[in-house]
Amino acid sequence: MTKTDRAYLSPVKLLSELIRLDTSNPPGNEEIAVHFIESLLTREGIKSLIVTPEPRRANILARIPGKRPGKPVVLLGHLDVVPANDEGWIEPPFSGAVRDGLIYGRGAIDMKSQVVCHLISFIMLYRSGMVPERDVIFLATADEEVSGKLGAEYMFQKVDDLSDASFVLSEGGFVMEEEGRLHARISVGEKQVCQFMIRATGRGGHGSMPHDDNANDKVVRAAHRIIDAQLPFKLTRIATRYLNGVLKGRKVARIQFSDLKEALLDQGFRRFIEGRPAYNALLKNTVTLTMLKAGDKINVIPMEATAYFDARIFPEVKHERFLRQMARIAGPDVQLTPIQKTFSVPSSFNTPYFTNIAKAVRGVTGPIPVLPDLTTGATDLRHFRARGVTAYGFFPIRLPAEEHMRMHSVNERLSVRSLEEGQECMDEIVRFLATYSFPG
Ligand SMILES: [Zn+2]
Repeated sequence: MTKTDRAYLSPVKLLSELIRLDTSNPPGNEEIAVHFIESLLTREGIKSLIVTPEPRRANILARIPGKRPGKPVVLLGHLDVVPANDEGWIEPPFSGAVRDGLIYGRGAIDMKSQVVCHLISFIMLYRSGMVPERDVIFLATADEEVSGKLGAEYMFQKVDDLSDASFVLSEGGFVMEEEGRLHARISVGEKQVCQFMIRATGRGGHGSMPHDDNANDKVVRAAHRIIDAQLPFKLTRIATRYLNGVLKGRKVARIQFSDLKEALLDQGFRRFIEGRPAYNALLKNTVTLTMLKAGDKINVIPMEATAYFDARIFPEVKHERFLRQMARIAGPDVQLTPIQKTFSVPSSFNTPYFTNIAKAVRGVTGPIPVLPDLTTGATDLRHFRARGVTAYGFFPIRLPAEEHMRMHSVNERLSVRSLEEGQECMDEIVRFLATYSFPG
């Protein structure tokens, strides 16, 4: 095989193969994907480290040594996917079938495609013989879709210099195609999870004789107050930069958009934002009622009722303070209990990483806006950011808004053209990361 032989490293072929390895989590079974990647690396003469926290769960790490020790660059991806059954799919979710220029399957977007592109760019860097400034690490993990405990979190205990990384690239942002316009969004932070429940107790009784100490009534009323509470718009630097970039020069809700702060003074514009869940979540702390548990018989007044809320708050908000606010709104008839929280610290977007990723993107797509973004869900990147590492979520594939919605849903798929373009851009990004000399 010659050094330039890239034929077997086709991203389309490798993605199809990786999709066919069912790593639905639970149960995970990422080991099969780890062995697949290991065989590709071995074929190139690259050694890999496989870390197995539990039977059939595995993580794989490979490294190209740099000129100087410490501060490695990490290409991070997860190998597990959310479960899927065949129902509603044009091609089965674990077929990796290519049909009409589209690759079908669970993980086509989230995020086996990015793992494949990381791997190919990593191998091409190795083949080039170039010695990077710092170690370049390829890392593919287990368990991201459930807790990360057997994946990224576990790897911090096993690999010392991960927490000392200079930069980490993983999932979160794409090149979005909305109403015929392109913009790239690079996720530089994420909202914090702040989940809680409210619970009421009361007197039981027969449904035929209502009384005013009904646990259900109390929870429903309190839940209503929480849902109806108008949480204010918050202008963070990230959201302002993002929405100014996306909406600039457009006519939105009958105003000519020029600046977010000014536009939010307009009631029609506020309604426009509130009608778009992605924009709304970027500008507000959000609270979503997700589960209700109460009663098990139609003619019995239960003695207890509970409602569960999934709240996502901005990085700078204190969980305790937000929960106190929720408890006040819910009122005295219910008791509020925190369930789960994550902490997050955003990375700066004023970095050479941002500038050069933007340059690589524009090299492929032409002059489009490249904007920082805040992810509303939680990813493995929070573990790195919490350790002070600059970490971005970005994969340079072109995704129309309706294709983006297929993530975690039926007919998750990615166009061949978009994947090939993504690979070209990823090669460029990895070349930059290898040649950039992190100070210190
Ligand atoms: Zn993911």
